[in-house]
Amino acid sequence: MSLTGLFKQKTVFSLEVFPPKKDSPTDAILPTLKRLQSLQPDFISVTLGAGGTDHCNGTVTIADLIQNQLNIPAVSHVPGLYQTKEQVLALLDRLDSINVKNILALRGDRIPGKTPVGDFSHANELVHFVHERRPDFSIASACYPNCHTEAADFVDDIGHLKEKVDAGADHLISQLFFDNQAFYDFKEKTEIAGINVPIEAGIMPCTNKNQIERITQISGVPIPKKFAAIMDRYQDSKEAMLDAGIAYAVDQIIDLVSQGVDGIHLYTMNKSKIAKRIWEETRSVFEASSQSATRPG
Ligand code: FAD
Repeated sequence: MSLTGLFKQKTVFSLEVFPPKKDSPTDAILPTLKRLQSLQPDFISVTLGAGGTDHCNGTVTIADLIQNQLNIPAVSHVPGLYQTKEQVLALLDRLDSINVKNILALRGDRIPGKTPVGDFSHANELVHFVHERRPDFSIASACYPNCHTEAADFVDDIGHLKEKVDAGADHLISQLFFDNQAFYDFKEKTEIAGINVPIEAGIMPCTNKNQIERITQISGVPIPKKFAAIMDRYQDSKEAMLDAGIAYAVDQIIDLVSQGVDGIHLYTMNKSKIAKRIWEETRSVFEASSQSATRPG
């Protein structure tokens, strides 16, 4: 079944992992993946080049492990900024050869000092290209409940999001956010703009202050007062920050699922124990919501 077909049947639960650092062997991630397998995710996506790294081989190898050893659908991220059309086609061929037909098409993080190749300046161009040249692939794209940092405003950003969907993106995965109201307001804006594809909410459990500060600095995502208070109060206790960060993510997920979100995409940061705790705390709401959901056929 295609991933988009899944959204008609259930509240989707997906995970994201990233390749190990260049000096570690790629299969060092296998124990983590095996622990994540027990969460029975609907798919696992693998980043490529996020944060300015270059791990094309690692991404393909990990997608292969997920799809063919763990029997879980894999989604490969495909950033376009530093790839030529030929390189993208070659990557799609490699993914095809391991039976991975789902990608997340992105512009990609900018790498300081590195000049973009110029074939794909924005994600909509990559979506259009893949949709035209490889219609056998299913394409997801990224979206931003707090608005993308480079967009002039929401009107501009949602307009470009619509271009990606019109070009062939059949599912969207959101940037992390800490305030569910921002996601609900964003969802309303997408509906007004006529964006009708499933939108998964990206949730990142933040369990230490340095991690949160780094991530919000990169992504420009605001920290609500409630979460700032938790960090101030518990930052000096590793255990309390871990418990509080997990509880905050669980709270976000239960609220989103109860409001009928299409799916939750958990940014695991390769921390399987945290992902497992979140799954154990929320599994029943996914199951109950998938059973009761009246979804359009
Ligand atoms: P775009 O859709 O191109 O948007 C980028 C900016 O340009 C926005 O401000 C948008 O409004 C504007 N824009 C879009 N189209 C046009 C246009 N035609 N003309 C003018 N302006 C336009 N990065 C990686 O390198 N590797 C990864 O694996 C990775 N995984 C990610 C996973 C998720 C779920 C998310 C949310 C992000 C991920 N990123 C990754 C980061 C992503 O590459 C950055 O957020 C990047 O800055 C934007 O990517 P995009 O695909 O949304 O770009």
